[in-house]
This record gives sequence, structure tokens and C-alpha cells, in this order.
Amino acid sequence: MKMKEFKTESKKLMDLMINSIYTNKEIFLREIISNASDAIDKLHYKSLTDSNIKVNKDEFKINISIDKDKRLLIISDNGIGMSKEELENNLGTIAKSGSEDFKANNEHKEDIDIIGQFGVGFYSAFMVSSKVEVISRAYGSEEANMWVSEGVDGYSISKCDKDSYGTDIILTIKSGEEYNEYLDNYKIQELIRKYSDYITVPINMDVEHRHLKEKKNESDKDEYETVIENQTINSLVPLWKRNKSKISEEEYNTFYSDKFFDYETPLLHIHTMAEGSVNYNSLLYVPSHAPYDFYTKDYEKGLQLYSNGVLIMEKCGELLPDYFSFVKGIVDSPDLSLNISRETLQQDKVLKTIAKSIESKIRKELEVMRDEKREDYEKFINAFGAQLKYGIYANYGMDKDKLQDLVMFYSSNDGKYTTLKEYVSRKGEEQKNIYYAAGESISKIENSPKVSSFKDKYEILYCIENVDEFALKVINEYEGLKLVNVNSEDIHEEDNEKQEEVNKINDEYKDMFNLMKEAVTELKDIKFTTDLKNHPVCLSSSGEISLEMEKTLSHMPNSEFIKAEKVLLVNSNHKIADKLKELYNSDKDKLKDYTKVLYAMSRLMEGLSIDNPLEISNLVCEYLDK
Ligand code: ADP
Ligand code: MG
Repeated sequence: MKMKEFKTESKKLMDLMINSIYTNKEIFLREIISNASDAIDKLHYKSLTDSNIKVNKDEFKINISIDKDKRLLIISDNGIGMSKEELENNLGTIAKSGSEDFKANNEHKEDIDIIGQFGVGFYSAFMVSSKVEVISRAYGSEEANMWVSEGVDGYSISKCDKDSYGTDIILTIKSGEEYNEYLDNYKIQELIRKYSDYITVPINMDVEHRHLKEKKNESDKDEYETVIENQTINSLVPLWKRNKSKISEEEYNTFYSDKFFDYETPLLHIHTMAEGSVNYNSLLYVPSHAPYDFYTKDYEKGLQLYSNGVLIMEKCGELLPDYFSFVKGIVDSPDLSLNISRETLQQDKVLKTIAKSIESKIRKELEVMRDEKREDYEKFINAFGAQLKYGIYANYGMDKDKLQDLVMFYSSNDGKYTTLKEYVSRKGEEQKNIYYAAGESISKIENSPKVSSFKDKYEILYCIENVDEFALKVINEYEGLKLVNVNSEDIHEEDNEKQEEVNKINDEYKDMFNLMKEAVTELKDIKFTTDLKNHPVCLSSSGEISLEMEKTLSHMPNSEFIKAEKVLLVNSNHKIADKLKELYNSDKDKLKDYTKVLYAMSRLMEGLSIDNPLEISNLVCEYLDK
């Protein structure tokens, strides 16, 4: 028998398969089964278009058998089969574009895991087999042929006998302990259910059952017998392809927990069957809590991707925008190719269309939950609200319009979550801004000087998560109202008269403030305010970076240059204001010392540390003594 060589590219791929260090070798079964299923689909299609071909659809099946002693795993189908030429062409060369992509990729060793990411086809059998035999008879032909290969050296084809059309793939499983599982009946059943459950033809296998033997006499002891039954292992119709109206809530939830190993009931399921320019089914879930690693870089977003019931990717990240990375689920589309690769994935038009449609579907369903199931929605916000807020400021605020009505903030109104829309609906007509304040906790915010005087007049949004204020900064304006930090320097433009009055006094004491600034050079400004109730001073900021933002950013690398422009506000109704004016005339050095102490106080009230604690304590002691 003459041995033929593989084409160069095939050789490379084959070599990679044989020497694969890839841990997920088990996917070979998925590949072989999906080829069998394709072959059956082809014959089925032919029978529908050619009246000479008479096959009974109900007889289509894939059969799997194991011969442990000979180390054989056999996958048979009654599909279209292959002629001698087809065996030669299909199994001797890589003709498929998907495989070509793979070839382009495998120069890089780290890309080895792409084996598991998408179909690599027939050659994957060599990851677990020392020899592969393919016996095939094309439909309508009397002749059968056998293709045999033991690896890179090449393959040979010879005539053989086969009773009926179709293909038998006979794998001689490699010797070695780690390969024994591929000869284990239960393992093979498990692999079928895991990867090929939704193949639309039955995958049959002999399964052993232990039965209680029928008794001849009542008094006989229990005896068991082992019966072998040929059973269909796959469930044929996946949940996501079934009619929505016939699926119970419980079925949806059980499917979720089985598939995604989460035993808490999800907050939402979204089952879509889309037909149109792109056809797909999807079944998506919003979990009720964040996975432990959700807010770390280890978390990987993505949906399971199927092409017509065949799993092609465990986590397809391209299907979800980052701000919806918490969504779990599956997408199944007949319009996707099995051999889709990571490279082609990014440009794949079908995938892009599906991703877009999924994104807007999720958004709509979240809006419905927000409006109709408030309690669930607040749970959702607790778990994933921060992710939506990241989404607002990520990508230069590109997605803020999509997300600003989904996010929620704590409110001074009732201490509960509110949306921006709800805030606006509550505010008085004269109010021109939406106010917010940032801090580590609600109580800390409420005790801060500005907020305690302000919240009697206006509702304030409390930003207690780092991301809150960043998100609000990006939103900037909502329904024509500016978003304003209560702690920023000038916030009383709503009351023009009062503002003019304050401006006048500040003008009057300009020289005094300039002198005070000499004592604390990092202050951008010192001013009087009438905004404070009882507190003598407070620290605020002007410009883009607020004090809270400075705090957040200080945890990041290279942040020493990102500083809020600080403004010290002095309560003009407090007796300290009179004291300062007095010192300006009597003792300028003492005025400077007072400024240092007041500035340190204002920092402490904001939860900021002070750079010169020794100097400040000495000053305080000195004046306590007097
Ligand atoms: P792909 O499935 O992407 O085409 P594969 O490497 O899995 O790539 O298979 C190569 C080709 O071999 C298939 O396109 C098909 O023509 C042929 N083939 C493989 N298995 C079978 C089978 N069981 N019956 C008929 N043809 C098959
Ligand atoms: Mg294939």
C-alpha cells in the first residue's frame, strides 16, 4: 500500500495536534461528532432537493461504541459519506478557511489554547489517538474505502467493505494512563452532554444498566443483572430553542444553575429568538450577586457561543460590552461558522450584529426591571451598579447616554437609591442644578460642613463609591441641569443677590487673604462664605478635580501631580472671621499661624491627612496655653 504525504500545512497542524500539550484534549469528540452531524445534514439536504434520493429522516443517527481491550473508540454516522477522492481531498489537505486561520496562528506557542476556542476539525483526533482509520462509503456508491494514518508521516487509502453508506471513524486511543478516560463509557457520555448535547440528530451509545432480576418465587433473594441498552445520550432540543411559552420559571432557573454553577436564583432571564438579517437564539441571565472575582482583572466576560447547537466557544467576550460584563448566557446562531477564529471573530459581521442586538435587548430589560421590579433592581444596582458607572466614564463617555438612566445614587431625600430622572422630577422649579457630594460613607458626607447646611435646601446625591463622582463628572449635564459638587467653591449662583454680597466682602478683604495665602502656598484661594451653618471653615475645590477624586486618584501610580485646586472657605458669620480681621491689623504673624491651623482643620474634616502634623500640634499647644 502506497503511503502519501500530507500537504505542508496539514503536516504542521497535525504535528501540533500530535504533540499537543493542550490540556483540553477532550474537544476532539466534539469535532468528530460535529463532522458526523454535518455529513448527515448534507445528505438530508440532498434528499430534500433531489427526488431520486430516498432516505428516511428518522433513521439518521450517530453511533458511538467502545472496545476497551483493543483501545478503540468508534464514531459512526449514516451521513453522506466520502468517495476515495473525497477522502483524499478532505482529509489530506486543509482546505477550510477556518483551518487556514489556525495555521496562521500556530506560529505562536501561546496561541495553543485557541485549540479549545474554536473548531480545529478532524485532525484534533490525533491529540488522543495513535492511529485514525476512516471507513467511508459515499451515498449512492457501491464502493467503500479506508483512510489510515498514524501521524505526520502520511496516510494511505485502500478499498474495503462497508454494508451501507456513511462513515466510521475508528480511533485507536493512545496508550498511557491519561488517555484511558476516552475509553470510559461514562466519560464519553459526559463529553457528549457537555459539548454536543444539542446536536439535532440522536447520538446513541450502548449503556450498561443494573436491573433487579425478575423473581421466580416470592421467597427468592434479590438478584441483579446487567443489561445493555442502546440509548440516545443527547437531549436533541436545547432549552433556548424551545417555545418560550412552554418553559417554566423553574426550568429557566435550573438551567442557569446547572450551566453557570450559581445556586442563587438569577434576577432576570432574557430569552430571545431573533429572525431577520441575522438569525439567532439567545438565553441570557443577570445574576443576583457579583461573582467573587467580578471586580478584579481575573474576571472574564463572555457568552457561550453555539453554531446550530454545537458549542464553539466557552466565553465569547465580543458579544458583550464591558458595562454588561456581568451577563451570563448562551448565543446560538446557524449563521456562524464552526471554524470561526479569534482573528475573524473581531471582524465577523454576523457576530457584530448579534452583539448589538443583544446589547439593546439587555438594556431594555433592565429598564423594565427598574420600572416594574424596584426591589430586584436595587439588588441589581448593589451588585453591578459600579460596573455601569465605570461604563459611563470609560471610552471618553461614549456610552453615557445609554447608561445614565440605569445608574442610581443614594439620595439625601430618603437615604435610598434614586435615578437622575427621579431626582429631577422631585426638584423645585427654581432649582437649576443637580447637587451631589462625595465621601466615604453617608454619615461622613452628611456631617461635612457644606452638606449639613445645604441639604435642608436641596436634595443631594451621595457619592460613596469612588466611581460615583467620576461618572457624574462625565454625565456633566442631565436634562439641561448641571451636575454640581456641593463642595466646589462657587455653588450659590442660584441666589444672585446673596452672591453679590459675598463677592463684595471678599473684594474688600483681598489683601488679607493674600497675606494668609503666603502661609499655605498650596491653597489656590481663601474666601468668605455665608454657606456654612456652625462650622468655622471648610475646604472646597475649584476646577475639574474634586477633593474626593484626589483621594481616589492618589491610590494610583503616578498620581502625585493630580491634585484638586483647594479653596479654604471661612464662615463670614462665625466669630473666627472677626478674629482674622482683627489679627490682620494687629499681628500678621499670628494671622499666618491661624491660617495654618484652620487649613489643617479643614483638611481633617474632609478626611485628608496633613503633611506637617508636628508644626500644627506645636501651634495648637502654643495657643491653648494662652
Ligand atoms: P470542517 O468540518 O471545518 O470542514 P474538518 O477538518 O472537521 O473541517 O473536516 C474536514 C472535511 O472532512 C469536512 O469538511 C468533510 O468534508 C470531511 N469529513 C470529515 N468527517 C466526515 C464524515 N463523518 N462524513 C463525511 N465527511 C466528513
Ligand atoms: Mg469539522
